[in-house]
Amino acid sequence: MAVPNAASHLDFVVDPEHPDAEPFYAPSKRNYPQAVKGFYRSIKWAALVATLATYYLLPFVRWNRGPGAPGQAVLLDLADRRFYFFFVEIWPQEAYYVAGLLVLAALVLFMMNALAGRVWCGYLCPQTVWTDLFFAVERRFEGDLHARRAREAKGWTFDRAWRLVAKHATWVLIAWWTGGAWVLYFSDAPTLVRALATLQAPAIAYVWIGILTFTTYALAGHMREQVCVYMCPWPRIQAALTDEWALNVTYRTDRGEPRLSLKKSHAARSRGEPAGDCVDCRQCVAVCPTGVDIRDGLQLGCIQCGLCIDACDAVMSKVGRPARLIAYDTDMNVARRAEGKPALRRLVRPRTILYAVAIAAVGSLMLWRLTTRPGGALAIAHDRNPLSVTLADGSIQNGYSALVINRDAAPRTFDLSASGVPGAKLVVEGAPSDGTRVRIQVPGDDTREVRVLLRAAAPSGAATSVPVTFTVVNETSGETATATDRFETPAAN
Ligand code: SF4
Ligand code: SF4
Repeated sequence: MAVPNAASHLDFVVDPEHPDAEPFYAPSKRNYPQAVKGFYRSIKWAALVATLATYYLLPFVRWNRGPGAPGQAVLLDLADRRFYFFFVEIWPQEAYYVAGLLVLAALVLFMMNALAGRVWCGYLCPQTVWTDLFFAVERRFEGDLHARRAREAKGWTFDRAWRLVAKHATWVLIAWWTGGAWVLYFSDAPTLVRALATLQAPAIAYVWIGILTFTTYALAGHMREQVCVYMCPWPRIQAALTDEWALNVTYRTDRGEPRLSLKKSHAARSRGEPAGDCVDCRQCVAVCPTGVDIRDGLQLGCIQCGLCIDACDAVMSKVGRPARLIAYDTDMNVARRAEGKPALRRLVRPRTILYAVAIAAVGSLMLWRLTTRPGGALAIAHDRNPLSVTLADGSIQNGYSALVINRDAAPRTFDLSASGVPGAKLVVEGAPSDGTRVRIQVPGDDTREVRVLLRAAAPSGAATSVPVTFTVVNETSGETATATDRFETPAAN
């Protein structure tokens, strides 16, 4: 395939004083990786099937939460502002769980990196998985590298054209299915599927399917390794996190060099001259989905997928040399072998201990909070302007918005009280009050926002603000929840 002449349209990125310097941006070359079979390819197929099956089928998994509650195991219910994940139900006031999940995900990624380098990139990242699927479709219609080159050499024929059309049509179909699965996470999946099929779904669903169809088709079908090399921040972060004990796909220079063709290597060895195991066949480069030559050392473009290991193992088997000239290895072992020392694996080291402790701590904290959180909760927000008013009888009044949350499926009554301001009288608009306690009814699995007024004589001394604690008690379970704020005097306005 013709590669555009960089100098012809990239002059603006070339320093005129150093015309021989590398341009800031290199035009991409179309990469047609060859198919390969082997141990790591099998793992990648298994990861692809598992991740795609999870993504496409998870919205259809049901979970019984009782009458009136959504029956979908994983649901982002934006209309009711609720996130359901199997037995977990997260309310908007509990966004810290989402923050905790993100922290946990980052720590797990760091741990994976410390143990096995960019294993996430090579096997589990959505960009890798969908690109792999798109490669498989491409090979199904257009054949492997050599078949494609032979067809392209003949120019535009009917055979080449129908294969190209069929490939792009299948890509669009997969991309559309991917977008379709995405919106199912935001509404009851079976109902939404019926609505989509009968064109009764909300317009926003079709918009999102369109966006996801386009991005999947563009990222997995066309941009491919460009996303990993130019767009994704993880390779840069990962490079700063790795150490000499992390496993990375490594070309074993000590075994492979000097590289010589098979014929030359036989001749050199018969003369007693040095010849490495690498026969310079470039099969490792031909199968690489990002077009990397791993023999040049660890590079940003290498996603650690292990396919070059499979390719090289097949070559080594054919030429009768030991496997794993390319292998998952550590920098430390490369150095040790060069010194004639045996290889070592060190999984337990300060950084893996640190990550494990952090994962256990964050995970346990979240689990503890989830399993012990009460059925009710309270959030208080003080009026901003004015902070307080002086009433005709000289007493001071502060206003608050109180959000009472009932996580139980049945309606509940909560007793609201306030403490910290001596002699304060509590009033809630529209709810019966004896001055110290207010009963608030909240429907099942719902919230109720009420306006709370707190009236008291001016605090003694020069205090302009005193802390106040609001408490709700669930009359059914006796569980309590509190929220703190301030009681302000006019001097604080
Ligand atoms: S160099 Fe090897 S491990 Fe790295 S991306 Fe290419 S095939 Fe995968
Ligand atoms: S596949 Fe193995 S033998 Fe062939 S060039 Fe790559 S490292 Fe050398």
